[in-house]
Amino acid sequence: MAQSNILIIYTGGTIGMIKSESGVLLPFNFENLLNYIPLLKNFPANIHSYSFDTPIDSSDANPDFWVKLVKIISENYDNYDGFVILHGSDTMAFTASALSFMLENLTKPVILTGSQLPIGLLRTDGRENIIAAIELAALKKNEKPIISEVCIYFENSLYRGCRTNKYSAENFDAFISPNYPKLASVGIDITVYEDRLMHSNLDFLITHTELCKEIAIIKFFPGIQSKTIDAIINIPNLKGIIIETYGSGNAPTDPEIIASLKHAIDNNIIVLNITQCTVGKVNQGKYLTSTQLKEIGVISGSDMTTEAALTKLMYLLGKKFSGSELSKLLSLSLRGELTP
Ligand code: ASP
Repeated sequence: MAQSNILIIYTGGTIGMIKSESGVLLPFNFENLLNYIPLLKNFPANIHSYSFDTPIDSSDANPDFWVKLVKIISENYDNYDGFVILHGSDTMAFTASALSFMLENLTKPVILTGSQLPIGLLRTDGRENIIAAIELAALKKNEKPIISEVCIYFENSLYRGCRTNKYSAENFDAFISPNYPKLASVGIDITVYEDRLMHSNLDFLITHTELCKEIAIIKFFPGIQSKTIDAIINIPNLKGIIIETYGSGNAPTDPEIIASLKHAIDNNIIVLNITQCTVGKVNQGKYLTSTQLKEIGVISGSDMTTEAALTKLMYLLGKKFSGSELSKLLSLSLRGELTP
């Protein structure tokens, strides 16, 4: 079988950082990174790399950065069997979710990975993460890549990107996929759970690079006042709000809060409901405290992570969907991001 061609895209993050004289971690040059894994030169895949001119800490990731990544992938799409993106872990779940929506009909893997400790440190988790991510990206069956979606690989597990969130700033296994099982486990053997993978029926990549930034997230808390919600709703040009509610999608019944949300919906601002709970989903109508939300037209985000909900809204609003079509698409699983 022909060796896989893999493109590593280095964007920055702890994996490639070194300590400055003042002790602060700063991004450094990609060539240095490869020096720490000489093994890659003899890897049973053809590996090429692309490095961002100015590597970033992923806290600086934004929609323009995602567009840049999409362009690099689409320009190189035909020449590679898979892509590994080295990325800071802080916003990796946002980037993975955004790329899931921006890259439609993927037939090749796009695997994001990084590390909690810089590659230059003896105990780094980066070396194993990069090597396993490349191995997973290079896997083929009948000459075709086995994985064909955007994923995150971290500490022995491969996850669907738009199902993940970073839950630990300490542990090597920094990510979880609370509402969808992992796609592969890496131990002595690599086990890919093929029945959990996404597959596109179409083999031409479509890229979407218009993302709407006119979005806000409101996290509910006991004591939240309608004036807080009003202040956000009155942001000029706002197109969508994600509300992070309690439990299975419950919010205070305070009539002023409900009136504020209704005012937003009446003014064509889409309101999407996701839960603050890590596990489980929104079920509007289960309790009285969510029935009103349903009645005024709040859309249920099911079990979407904040990262998936935000980037899905950016993507759909960027495509200029509105009204019932937008509501319908938000409730459907487009890239495996929710359980319908
Ligand atoms: N601050 C870093 C980043 O996200 C953390 C990491 O890479 O793990 O870029």
